[in-house]
Amino acid sequence: MITLALSKGRIYDEAGPLLAAAGLALTEDPEATRKLILATKRPDVRVIIVRASDVPTYVQYGAADLGVAGSDVLAEHGGQGLYQPLDLRIARCRMVVAVPEGFDYASAVKQGARLRVATKYIGTAREHFAAKGVHVDLIHLYGSMELAPLVGLADAIVDLVDTGNTLRANRLKVVEEIAPISSRLVVNPASMKLKRDELAPILEAFGKAIRG
Ligand code: AMP
Repeated sequence: MITLALSKGRIYDEAGPLLAAAGLALTEDPEATRKLILATKRPDVRVIIVRASDVPTYVQYGAADLGVAGSDVLAEHGGQGLYQPLDLRIARCRMVVAVPEGFDYASAVKQGARLRVATKYIGTAREHFAAKGVHVDLIHLYGSMELAPLVGLADAIVDLVDTGNTLRANRLKVVEEIAPISSRLVVNPASMKLKRDELAPILEAFGKAIRG
């Protein structure tokens, strides 16, 4: 049996067609059931539904043989104990630094001001500002980062941006791009060795589905 870890929402919405093209369509809609283990069209492949940020952990420990995880989540996790053979090129967006429209970020940085930055991506933010030599106090949030500068919790945020609508609606602007983001297929290295015969055709089918 091969186990694939997947999260609901944006990633499933975009991975669904790839799964179908790879012959691994789910037999039930994960958005319409409370089941956390779902069957696919292939009797030897099942899907487990986990939080996006937990996908690397399930795969790292071998509770899932493979999974779909955003590069934002993988950067925070560190990627240790994971093969990342394929960029699925789905759930694409950008990791950015954003501030209120009226805030002169460049001047603040030039003056060596200590900035308060709210984010879910503590590791990514720490690395980004350290590389630029910007002094920051990081505030760890779990969601709605866009709110933090509006109520005086932070000067800036590090967050994902897709269309930019959420930033615009909250009168925030992008001041730095940190990285382009997309979802990756991740594989447990022991599974790769021990279940090579079962996994190789699945990886190949995913590769074909992306190119198609
Ligand atoms: P948008 O308004 O289209 O720029 O989307 C921004 C909001 O959607 C932010 O709250 C982001 O955290 C979230 N978001 C955008 N793209 C992604 C993605 N690929 N994965 C997870 N969250 C995302």
